Amino acid sequence: MRNSLLFILSLFGVICYAQRDLSYTKADFLRGSITPEREWWDLNYYHLDIEVEPDKKFISGQNTIRYKVLKENNVMQIDLQPPMKIDKVISEGEELTYKSSGNVHLILLNKEQKKGDFNALTIFYSGYPKEAVRAPWDGGFSWKKDSNGNHFIATSCQGLGASVWWPNKDHMYDEVDSMAISVKVPKALMNISNGRLRKVEEDTTTKTYHWFVNNPINNYGVNVNIGDYVHFDEKYMGEKGELDLDYYVLPENLEKAKEQFKQTPMMLEAFEHWFGPYPFYEDGFKLVEVPYLGMEHQSSVTYGNGYENGYRGTDLSESGWGLKFDFIIIHEAGHEWFANSITYKDIADMWIHEGFTAYSENLYVDYHFGKQASADYVIGTRKRIQNDKPIIGRYNLNKKGSSDMYYKGANILHTLRQLVEDDDKWRQVLRDMNKTFHHQTVTTLQVESFLSKATEKDLTAFFEQYLRTTKIPTLEYKIKDGKLKYRYTNIVEGFDMPVQIKIGDSEKWIFPSAKWKTEPVKGNSLQVDRDFYIESKSL
Ligand SMILES: [Zn+2]
Repeated sequence: MRNSLLFILSLFGVICYAQRDLSYTKADFLRGSITPEREWWDLNYYHLDIEVEPDKKFISGQNTIRYKVLKENNVMQIDLQPPMKIDKVISEGEELTYKSSGNVHLILLNKEQKKGDFNALTIFYSGYPKEAVRAPWDGGFSWKKDSNGNHFIATSCQGLGASVWWPNKDHMYDEVDSMAISVKVPKALMNISNGRLRKVEEDTTTKTYHWFVNNPINNYGVNVNIGDYVHFDEKYMGEKGELDLDYYVLPENLEKAKEQFKQTPMMLEAFEHWFGPYPFYEDGFKLVEVPYLGMEHQSSVTYGNGYENGYRGTDLSESGWGLKFDFIIIHEAGHEWFANSITYKDIADMWIHEGFTAYSENLYVDYHFGKQASADYVIGTRKRIQNDKPIIGRYNLNKKGSSDMYYKGANILHTLRQLVEDDDKWRQVLRDMNKTFHHQTVTTLQVESFLSKATEKDLTAFFEQYLRTTKIPTLEYKIKDGKLKYRYTNIVEGFDMPVQIKIGDSEKWIFPSAKWKTEPVKGNSLQVDRDFYIESKSL
């Protein structure tokens, strides 16, 4: 009775959600926070089992959700965005009732949910899913055709949420431990999803591809890619042994792909060096051609960069180094470590994915082309920084922060590398971070405190400055009569990052803070080491 009452109350809006900013709605909060109807159960397993009918642009099927009860409750929040519709919900042979409001569906469970129990339910659903407007950013289903007129279809849904095409617990904090994905498609086509292909079932007009992911996976990482694919493969001997590399491309691009995808082993060599073993050996690694630019779908990274180096052929850093690698292979695969293995709990902390992955681009350059080249690259990307709003977004509302999370994020980490002053140690910090947070969802505070501890530096003010404000520290200085006078302005309280400078012929560290300091120097001109992301001003 009590639970039923709560169920009705929560459905009709008596849920307490204290938000000062009125531009956000209750729907944002239900989508973006760990609601009471989400927090009592822990995801264990999904089996998503669907049919895709390309001619109708229609999908139908079911998702079986197995979960562990963490505390007693019998109302479960499941997300599925209109126009997709739940047809029915079944648990242990019984049909369950549910109430729907927008993309939130509150399911009333009949069976007593006892702490520690594993229970399951199956959600049957169908509909014409939202078509992607500008995949992968404004995602959904991309219903395209290849140059031979065959269907060429893919999903993408970061930010928007996987509930745009299948029913699930659409919040990043909780991941299943493993997942099966079965997709029925017209017989002439293939479906490539995440993990490993276990079997293909065939009838007169269709084929069903059964994929299995043997690792935790976040919702937006789950994908279907349907096309007239050809396949080739190779093995990579990595830090954890033999890794299967599988490639699925359109037949017309096979030769180009065989050439361009030679960068995959180069990527693995660089990233295993810097970050430790590829995080999903059990699931292999795939590159899958799609009709949009690309996305970090776990163990089936999608690729649409036109088989050329750079970002659609351009160098985002304008240093020349950006044309030495295929941006999509390197960037999206970097996300296997930062996004798929280490995943944000809340999209407000998306810099954990994009800052570290943008930084991984320059570590790839570092590994293959040297430290100078990597500095040119990451510093070159600085001109893309807007400082329009903070990198950290709004918590509990599914709102990400500034797109500065990419290149400001990368430059924050490049600056931090200078503070560590020991590249072997810095590499160890990055490897330890991947070990510590392996296959976990985390908050920025966890990452910040890990980095403070691992580098043996109090980075509280450093991260406060760069992640939560748009202010760039400015070193103000005067040189007069053999004395250098300096201080920081435009800083948060307590910001006192040391910085390397060159005065005359000598390089040295100085230790600025908000207060003026003076020290004797030889020389009349000061240059801040370009590796530090600060500004300077001679008074
Ligand atoms: Zn990215």
